[in-house]
Amino acid sequence: LGESRTLWELVERRAALTPDRPVLLQGDRTLTFGELRDRAERVAAGLHDRGVRPGTVVAWQLPTRIETALLSFALARLGAVQSPVIPFYRDREVGFALRESRAEYFAVPGVWRGYDHTALAERLGARGVFEAYETLPEGDPAVLPPPPSSGEEVRWIYWTSGTTSDPKGVLHTDRSLIAGGSCLAHALRLTPDDVGSMAFPFAHIAGPDYTVMLLLYGFPAVMFEQFALPDALEEYRKHGVTVAGGSTAFYSMFLAEQRKQPGEKVIPTLRLLAGGGAPKPPEIYHSVVREMGCRLTHGYGMTEVPMITMGDPEDTAENLATTEGRPPAGMEIRIAEDGEVRLRGEAVCRGYLDPEQTAAAFDEDGFLITGDVGHLTESGHLVLTGRIKDIIIRKGENISAKEIEDLLHTHPDVGDAAVIGLPDAERGERVCAVVEQPAGAAELTLRGLGAYLREQGLAVHKLPEQLEVVDALPRNKTLRKVLKYKLRERYGS
Ligand code: ATP
Ligand code: MG
Repeated sequence: LGESRTLWELVERRAALTPDRPVLLQGDRTLTFGELRDRAERVAAGLHDRGVRPGTVVAWQLPTRIETALLSFALARLGAVQSPVIPFYRDREVGFALRESRAEYFAVPGVWRGYDHTALAERLGARGVFEAYETLPEGDPAVLPPPPSSGEEVRWIYWTSGTTSDPKGVLHTDRSLIAGGSCLAHALRLTPDDVGSMAFPFAHIAGPDYTVMLLLYGFPAVMFEQFALPDALEEYRKHGVTVAGGSTAFYSMFLAEQRKQPGEKVIPTLRLLAGGGAPKPPEIYHSVVREMGCRLTHGYGMTEVPMITMGDPEDTAENLATTEGRPPAGMEIRIAEDGEVRLRGEAVCRGYLDPEQTAAAFDEDGFLITGDVGHLTESGHLVLTGRIKDIIIRKGENISAKEIEDLLHTHPDVGDAAVIGLPDAERGERVCAVVEQPAGAAELTLRGLGAYLREQGLAVHKLPEQLEVVDALPRNKTLRKVLKYKLRERYGS
């Protein structure tokens, strides 16, 4: 099935093989592979009746529901270009996405969780607004043109998280998504007997990519419109989830639930916690294995390349705890002279909406320049050490923000910390530590913190020269990553 040229071809092949097996489980509802094919085709016809054609740009801002998956696959059936937008984005991000993608249609959930998305769409002057929540447009598939035959056309515009600057529109094809999903499936050693879970928004690239995996292997996943623990645990138990996915933040959330009932597995069927997309503290691997009684594998991915490396669940504890795993077959990793990670392979995006960004993003050999810094171990495992923009150059010396942050995290009066370089007339850049404190923590001073970091072995030239204590670090909405550019704006002048 991994040879399928388009997503729709993959849906048809899977539906022919196991039409009655479930693919998506949500609350009391089940969608089978056969229903996915039949209903998505009817929705495609409904969209066609409204004027959506192959190549039409359709943006959607919909919650994680069976209907959303149907709409997305209906667009894939039509060969339209879809641009998923995270449900809790508001005017700024949505306006940006609609404008940049030149969307001709915009699907919204109406009023969802107390927020009026239709009003938002009207305010922004969106074109072709329609609701796609409980009911979807449907029609007679007889009107449909044949499904797309090429998987190499741009059919997806995804938005990066906007951690380092404004979000970038990332161009994917059916083939690049299928390649990403196949890699994930192999890396996790999945079988048709697994039961997965989608705890992240379907509008994130992980949504369709995860669904590719379900189509390849023919097993189902549980979906959550509003993921919250401990309630979600009931669903995990009811459906016997074996592989739970999510980003780093999920590991600690699951652990917190497990700690409420030590000795008894909170999800008895769980064999693997698999996630990625953000840095993970190495200790978390050992806590998960010890307390939750399952493996943890963590991977490296980005909107441009949904799966770059993934830990093999059968690998050693050392490798699983301290690396991002290895690249799958077909993914070439090159570490540039300055340590920057570069990638080439079928799962790599085809570029950005902005041709200038595309031109700047690929090197002369066609490798994508990721902006991340890392190295490969002797066994070919990738270790990430930060982002290139996180390298502070003070008096010509390169300083890794992550090294200092890792040490700050061990200080009892530091909750979370972000280290940034600020423009400095004398030194080029100076090191500034921005710190969140846990409740009841003692007051911090620059001197005291400096003494602590020295004790931990940090070189003198790397010591923070400025300390800012904040109530909350600015974070993005999807993966709760710290927005350092905002801190640089705030403290940089
Ligand atoms: P923007 O590109 O708009 O600044 P972003 O890069 O945060 O935002 P995403 O595509 O969501 O947007 O995130 C990808 C980035 O997340 C990677 O480039 C990397 O910096 C980080 N990341 C992903 N996986 C890991 C990981 N396992 N460990 C450390 N960092 C990771
Ligand atoms: Mg990025």
